[in-house]
Amino acid sequence: MESPFQKLIIITAPSGAGKTSITRYLMREFPVLEFSISAATRQPRGNEKDGVDYYFISPDDFQQKIQQKEFAEWEMVYEGKYYGTLKSELKRIWNKQHVPVLDIDVKGAIHIQQQYPENKLSIFVEPPSVDELKKRLMSRGTESEESLQARVNKASYELSFKDHFDEVILNDNLENACRKAKELVQRFLQS
Ligand code: 5GP
Repeated sequence: MESPFQKLIIITAPSGAGKTSITRYLMREFPVLEFSISAATRQPRGNEKDGVDYYFISPDDFQQKIQQKEFAEWEMVYEGKYYGTLKSELKRIWNKQHVPVLDIDVKGAIHIQQQYPENKLSIFVEPPSVDELKKRLMSRGTESEESLQARVNKASYELSFKDHFDEVILNDNLENACRKAKELVQRFLQS
């Protein structure tokens, strides 16, 4: 029988929809949850730290890990920038009898949930509108004009996949969205 701890929670959304705020909230509410640290080939931003926010690795290392089948899923999320969930990361968290929380892009989320059809909860965080999403990304101030436009274009496409997930949370109000997410996670952890 599979360990009851081999559950996982996948949180996905177009960039800027608020999934990171919801993920952080859930981590504070449920000590059994642990953030799944992805490997990524982009450069660290601001205060980001290797081994905390991401495992920052080179494109060559990333390719090697693809070939050695070390990823549970991976995607080129933005042009030339690769992100992936390492199988070793999921194992690391399960070994502690924690439940990994994956904050990943929509395509990666679709792929990984197909691999764990029984033991997963997948949540799609829906922004109120693409315009609102653009405003949020602009106020975050971390994107160049080009990167902002790429994220907005991608968001419209990603919204069309929301029905592929177990649950959809509309984030027109962060507090309400967090409350809804908490209820869903509580139910899932007890199941
Ligand atoms: P950022 O560059 O803003 O940190 O992340 C860009 C996007 O990549 C976000 O939507 C984030 O959720 C996604 N992402 C982060 N890690 C992974 C991963 O391991 N796999 C996939 N498919 N997407 C990821």
